[in-house]
Amino acid sequence: MEKVKEKIDWYLKIMNIKSDNLSTNLRTVLIMFLVASISYFISFISLKMYDLAIVSIVGVFTYIFCIKTVGKNELEKAFFIAHIQILFSSSISVLILGWGYGFQIILIALISIMYIDIFRNRLISYILVLSESIIYIALYLVHISNEGEQSVSYYQDYFYVANFIFLIVMLLIISKILKSTDIAYFYQLKDDNDKFKNASETDDLTGLINKRTLNLIIDNKRRSSMVISMCDIDNFKQINDQFGHNTGDLVLKTLSNIFLDHTNKTDIVCRWGGEEFVIVSFDISKNDFLTKIQKIKFQISETIIKEGNETFNFSVTFGVSEVGNDRNLLIKQADERLYKGKNSTKNCIVSK
Ligand code: GH3
Ligand code: MG
Ligand code: MG
Repeated sequence: MEKVKEKIDWYLKIMNIKSDNLSTNLRTVLIMFLVASISYFISFISLKMYDLAIVSIVGVFTYIFCIKTVGKNELEKAFFIAHIQILFSSSISVLILGWGYGFQIILIALISIMYIDIFRNRLISYILVLSESIIYIALYLVHISNEGEQSVSYYQDYFYVANFIFLIVMLLIISKILKSTDIAYFYQLKDDNDKFKNASETDDLTGLINKRTLNLIIDNKRRSSMVISMCDIDNFKQINDQFGHNTGDLVLKTLSNIFLDHTNKTDIVCRWGGEEFVIVSFDISKNDFLTKIQKIKFQISETIIKEGNETFNFSVTFGVSEVGNDRNLLIKQADERLYKGKNSTKNCIVSK
């Protein structure tokens, strides 16, 4: 059971890596906005511009809230709220201070965030980008019509430069995020991960993963090539009839331990149903896979099951697929070959 647990932990681990990565990166973006808000707050207070100081402090609390929301993995909610906050605070700042302070640049930084495809519903992204662009243009039109009215001060250039630097840093962070995270893939993983955790993912008797979980894991590793073996215990009904159902169960457990002992961490061993099992290896040649299966078959032949005073052996027939990517096709292939084996001598490996 220890080995089974280790294997399941590993599956969960490969599925979680990417989601953690994205949350961390998004938290970085929010922390950037938080630091900017704190800096604005301090600057506005020292310049006695209290209306804008209030806008900044609202921002500080909003970003703290959003960072916490990311912590709860509610990424869409966090980013939606952050968008509205940024839109609100930079628009107010432009309206009060005018174009010369560069707060409109924050809107460009905001639009650039859209390259990180946070929202599962792309329409939300488009609507946000569109409304942000319209607000940018509207602010410009207001600025033109107000030209001359807004006061120019000696520190406005400092704000402009600070806002410009903010945009550049934000673009650098975003390009890093886009490089390090395959976002479209992330949601696929996240969904499957949730399903995987909720599904009755393992089989009670052997502790192996079940068919449904096997499919999930393979689909998440769809870029790898794989080889599949379908394995079916020979004359298992007879074992049950002769030695009882409990002994039948003992055979199933013994067999699953043999499979686990002869496969490595990245292989999948699944109880497909009844007395049928599936073994999947990734990124392996067919010859190496067959060697592995031959060792398993040999180990089975060496294994003696004790029932009271009686002892007996059991055997398994294997159908091995070609190397490929298409799960359904490979399973079909392996299944057809297993069937071929069952119709000949049984206790054999059919790989053609
Ligand atoms: P073949 O060599 O053609 O595979 O014959 P078989 O007897 O192994 O196959 P068959 O499909 O006729 O019988 C499978 C048996 O497996 C029938 C079913 O009662 C038994 N079985 C299925 N699940 C379990 C289980 O969890 N425990 C036990 N003890 N038996 C099981
Ligand atoms: Mg069967
Ligand atoms: Mg059978």
